[in-house]
Amino acid sequence: MNNTFTNKNINKVNLDWTIIQSELKLKLGTEVYESWIKKIDLVEEFNNYILLAVPTRFIRDWITSRYLDQILQNIKKHKKEIIRIEFKIIENKKNNNEKFVNLNKINNDENVSFIKDSYLKYNRIDPNKRFDNFLIGSSNKIAFEASCKVSENISYYNPLYVYGGVGLGKTHLLNSIGHEMNKSKKVMYISAERFMYQFVKSIKSNDMVKFKEYFRNTDVLIIDDIQFMNGKEAMQEEFFHTFNALLDKGSQIIVSADRPPNKLTRIQERIKSRFSGGLVVDIQRPEYELRKKIINYKINELTNLYSDKLNISEEIQNFISGKITSNVRELVGAINRVVSFSRIYNKMPSLAETKIILKDLLNLSEKNVTIDSIQTIVCKFFKISKNEMLSSRRSRYLVRPRQTAIYLTKILTTKSLPEIGREFSNRDHTTIIHSVKTIDKLKEKNPEMNNNINKLKNIILYSKENEI
Ligand code: ADP
Ligand code: MG
Repeated sequence: MNNTFTNKNINKVNLDWTIIQSELKLKLGTEVYESWIKKIDLVEEFNNYILLAVPTRFIRDWITSRYLDQILQNIKKHKKEIIRIEFKIIENKKNNNEKFVNLNKINNDENVSFIKDSYLKYNRIDPNKRFDNFLIGSSNKIAFEASCKVSENISYYNPLYVYGGVGLGKTHLLNSIGHEMNKSKKVMYISAERFMYQFVKSIKSNDMVKFKEYFRNTDVLIIDDIQFMNGKEAMQEEFFHTFNALLDKGSQIIVSADRPPNKLTRIQERIKSRFSGGLVVDIQRPEYELRKKIINYKINELTNLYSDKLNISEEIQNFISGKITSNVRELVGAINRVVSFSRIYNKMPSLAETKIILKDLLNLSEKNVTIDSIQTIVCKFFKISKNEMLSSRRSRYLVRPRQTAIYLTKILTTKSLPEIGREFSNRDHTTIIHSVKTIDKLKEKNPEMNNNINKLKNIILYSKENEI
């Protein structure tokens, strides 16, 4: 770990910052660590507060608004007297970021192409998502038609705002537009998260001018999942100006989100009102006919791919289109599973087998799963009492079951993190996040854990114990 500032400035530092940073890495995940936590240095430690350094104001604001509580919490674990964190901006001249150093060395032209490449890397339009393989039904017809219109004629509807729940085809439609327009126009396709990331990166490497130029030079700007755009003022400011500059010069803007513009949180009013000023269209959950159509299409596609006929019976096709109603992604996933089964066992599954293969996709949202029932089932499974689960004891044999129950509550109910925290003896929402992340990781590494979670999920969702 490179503590550039600490080296010069040590003054009564007893805290081991490297340890705190690695704890934060575990708690907040590698991505947050790499983007933010790593960039913080410990400058000085006082009786009840500490002074940290970051290279820019923007980084300071970002960290303060999102991670300050959690950082403080971890520091307190090592020194409970600390009640406050102060930040100092120290420009990181002796930069430890190799890319930055390299960027400064190369000449201007190369510099531009470096930036361009780094954007282009994320500007990948998926060639498999096109208009010609987007199936149309009453639930998505308007969104589809608006997308086609926009592709034919710049500024017809500007901006075009497409919204709808997960897996309903927003990314597919946006890609189709990008694919179509890319033939004759300069298209930039980027997710809102990536936009924010590039924005921050450009600030850090003093490349804001190029960032602006790059975005303002496109004929078509497509931004996916705008609900994730939740940056601080500076970024929203930049986004707003880019947006206006593009509209002024007649570029087309297409945006997708999981909700209508007025329901977006943490986005400036004036940006929302700009979104509402264009054409706003939604995609609904697929209706029965569209579900059948998609199943049919998928089976044909897979038949062509494997060059053998897939005899998925009418009964099973009807069963799937009748039961999997939430979104297209799950529908496609269900067919893939049935087909994989048939290839592994060399026979088509029966209806009973299909139900087992698709168990976790069926009825998931319809069952009324309560936190109480999850706790009861998990306690029984791990043979601990509910009091033990809800206690503050941190013995290992209690911690895992507790984390498992929290994890299952998160994925099987629609409760918010604070609500879940309250039901688990008023635990803080950061503890809830930590539990969910821990189990997520363990599940990947540890087959037994994965197995237990699946068993529990099945008991909670399908067994009578749920009605206790
Ligand atoms: P979203 O971005 O709304 O979450 P996606 O566009 O990623 O959803 O769609 C999920 C999956 O379903 C993708 O594989 C996509 O190609 C497919 N899909 C969605 N809608 C349709 C449709 N109308 N026709 C064909 N495939 C679709
Ligand atoms: Mg998407």
